[in-house]
Amino acid sequence: MPAAYDPNNIFAKILRGELPCHKVYEDERVLAFLDIMPRAPGHTLVIPKTPARNIFDISPDDYAHVARVAQKIATAAMKAFQADGITVAQFNERAGGQVVFHLHMHVMPRRDSVELLPPGTRQEDVKVLEDNATKLIAALG
Ligand code: 5GP
Repeated sequence: MPAAYDPNNIFAKILRGELPCHKVYEDERVLAFLDIMPRAPGHTLVIPKTPARNIFDISPDDYAHVARVAQKIATAAMKAFQADGITVAQFNERAGGQVVFHLHMHVMPRRDSVELLPPGTRQEDVKVLEDNATKLIAALG
């Protein structure tokens, strides 16, 4: 059985404003921000504001809203980053590839014949993250 939600995880701290992020979208139920170690330019994370560890403890309705916003980000990211495609991924528990235990959907813009970087390859320059956030916010309208 999965462990309980840990309110000290890094995304909970971002939600409480205790840690910074490059926000690209927010509504009453979700926050979307750039991944600090992008696997592709424009790699974005969509997280629910509700304290959910992963797919096993989130309500179907909140999960659906995270997916709805991931779809919106994916569409905007095609334009913002001149992408040829988008990979959407959501990992559950350590065996499922999850490292941060607050549910999140990855939205990763892809270019033809360009592989994703392995997770955690390198921390992106702040200036690049700022520029990419500006581009994505503009494409989101
Ligand atoms: P997971 O493997 O849990 O699905 O992915 C966690 C993601 O969170 C990774 O892609 C990692 O780069 C990203 N990440 C880890 N720490 C931070 C952080 O402090 N800020 C942001 N924006 N992303 C983070």
